[in-house]
Amino acid sequence: MIDPVLPTYNRVDLVFERGEGAWLFTKDGQRYLDFTAGIAVNVLGHAHPHLVAALTEQAGKVWHLSNVFRIEGAEKLAHRLVEATFADTMFFTNSGAEALECAIKMARKYHYANGAPERSRIVTFEGAFHGRTLATIAAGGNAKYLEGFGPALEGFDQVPYGDLEAVKAAIGPETGAILIEPVQGEGGVRSASWPFLRALRALCDEKGLLLVLDEVQCGVGRTGKFFAHEWAGITPDIMAVAKGIGGGFPVGACLAKEEAAKGMTAGTHGSTYGGNPLAMSVANAVLDVVLADGFLDQVQATTTRLRQRLAELKDRHPAVIAEVRGEGLLIGLRTLVPNGDLIAAMRAEHMLAPAAAENVVRLLPPLNIGEAEIDAAFTKLDAACARIETSLAASTGAAA
Ligand SMILES: *Cc1c(COP(=O)(O)O)cnc(C)c1O
Repeated sequence: MIDPVLPTYNRVDLVFERGEGAWLFTKDGQRYLDFTAGIAVNVLGHAHPHLVAALTEQAGKVWHLSNVFRIEGAEKLAHRLVEATFADTMFFTNSGAEALECAIKMARKYHYANGAPERSRIVTFEGAFHGRTLATIAAGGNAKYLEGFGPALEGFDQVPYGDLEAVKAAIGPETGAILIEPVQGEGGVRSASWPFLRALRALCDEKGLLLVLDEVQCGVGRTGKFFAHEWAGITPDIMAVAKGIGGGFPVGACLAKEEAAKGMTAGTHGSTYGGNPLAMSVANAVLDVVLADGFLDQVQATTTRLRQRLAELKDRHPAVIAEVRGEGLLIGLRTLVPNGDLIAAMRAEHMLAPAAAENVVRLLPPLNIGEAEIDAAFTKLDAACARIETSLAASTGAAA
């Protein structure tokens, strides 16, 4: 009999009752170190007092308002994000995929508004992940996610990640934009490299294309800057944001420069829930912390300390860990054993982390972890690797 919850996930059989910072607790009081963080969502960990206070205060006032009315929290958040980023304007959503849908529609509409409606095609990259809606699975191009869902949405031309010549070759008279994750998350924690992003920016300027960034996973402090593209010293024309911006409340946003947004006039796009008062109160509270003086410096310092320990881990377990990669606290451990084996061994040590493509285990801690969590992570990872070495030794012994 089918599970009443549509079985589209292979779920881990653990039920967590509450969380506190980087820790999750089961009903029977077992404690797990959470380096999944809802897939880079819980940037301030679980039950952060400032976020709890913001949400409960708003819950006693007004939960939901239609976007036909002004929403103060949305206006405030938008002003703050305009202040802190390249953007002049933005559309709020409930998820990353919806932020990307808005970005794709906006890119197409821009060229339409310029009298070039044929420029609807977008260059995308192999290994990309942009969400699970019909448009975003087409943009992502992952055959596994497209299979069986009928004709894929037209208009995406996919090239190898980081290959500038392939990008140039893919650009034709119908190309209107380039869409890229500065650091691929699901794709295996691969960094596009900052020179590559600069080259894409220059190419877009030369050809009149829009540069659209997907910072759903790598944004909101994850790499140690507010947004990852800041490391490259460039700005996009459009950017999709979600995950971390809500700290665990479903919030997304499509940010844009005024020129790129010029086709998105009244009536061209909408959302019932996008930018609702509850969501906006939490997102504003996330910004209170993430944009406070010193927070991102602290993320960079944490990155350095954690990466030192991970380098030590790799040296101690060369048969398990091939490479430590990524940017900031978007970290990938490429493993020499199946990544699922390391994830299972970590879980046995009460540490949680998600997988990624290319046989990678992702480490996505809350951004505000301290020395104690770094130590705990090292101890648990070290023990998990030792478990794997023991089973490797046992199987070699059995073979011999
Ligand atoms: C998670 C993710 C998305 C999709 O976000 P949802 O909230 O699941 O729709 C899009 N792009 C990237 C890079 C992501 O990591």
